[in-house]
Amino acid sequence: MHQNRKVEPARIFKLCISAAAFIGILLSRGIARLFGIRRQPHCMVLYYHSVPAEFRERFARQLDTILRHTKPVHPEHTHSLENGELYSLVTFDDGFRNFLEIALPELIDRKVPSLMFVITEALGKSFGPPNAPESVMTAEQLRHLPESLVAIGSHTLTHPYLPDSSEKDARRELVQSRLTLETLLNKPVPYFSFPYGGMTPSLVCLCEEAGYSRIYSALPAFTSFGQTDYCIGRVRVDPWDWPAEFRLKLAGAYNWLPVAISLKRLLLGNPLVSSLTRWRFPGATGKVRQSLIQGQDLAKETLPESIFPNHTDFVDNRKR
Ligand SMILES: [Zn+2]
Repeated sequence: MHQNRKVEPARIFKLCISAAAFIGILLSRGIARLFGIRRQPHCMVLYYHSVPAEFRERFARQLDTILRHTKPVHPEHTHSLENGELYSLVTFDDGFRNFLEIALPELIDRKVPSLMFVITEALGKSFGPPNAPESVMTAEQLRHLPESLVAIGSHTLTHPYLPDSSEKDARRELVQSRLTLETLLNKPVPYFSFPYGGMTPSLVCLCEEAGYSRIYSALPAFTSFGQTDYCIGRVRVDPWDWPAEFRLKLAGAYNWLPVAISLKRLLLGNPLVSSLTRWRFPGATGKVRQSLIQGQDLAKETLPESIFPNHTDFVDNRKR
């Protein structure tokens, strides 16, 4: 989905704090080098959504920045990271068609692997707010993505805000989307990312139960893809990010954000602070999120019902 591209004070504020954090990162690296300390590998996982055609050049420059400063890793081959190196993993949420038409050629040109998270019921339809929906890849297009460069993960069936879902619905979103993709692609789909970044400890347990071996959040953090790294942090990037903003995100300088978000939630949880700040944070007391899947069910043209032989819930839901 397109996001607000205006210059906002909050964006500049975050950039300034991140610039200070970047200096701290450089200092700590310099000190480690001075004392000959080989730090464990750090990988920064980025997540994109849409890559519109008018931003192709800027997206290409971002890939060049990634190659200049990090080693891109394939999501299926993250076990061989070396100490002291800085790695990156590029991911995409929502499965927009412009990934195929705009992003993928640039990724192929540079041999940068990626991980695409797909909303299974949006395949072949449009997805996004009513005033700016965007086309989503069809199942057939998904099946023909180059396996060596693009891994596929689940982003649920319908893109709900899972913390608001019942346990039964959340389990269905997690399990059925994985099974549907596995049937479609004829291979295991062990990766999952949370729509809207909506994640709770109980949802993480449900993901384990649903058979995912690695899940991705929307909160930035370094990872080394170690055995204990089940839930991997990611930083949001967009093709219209300023070059300095993108560079700082790639360096992990935005990794202070989860602390700031926790602090904000803690403050807003205080009734006094909440009543004083509600007018500033209208979404803080709960957002109504509805399905953003729209348009003709084009998926039916490319997805014969027979590919879902064991998943009647999914088929029934698509007929509603
Ligand atoms: Zn999404």
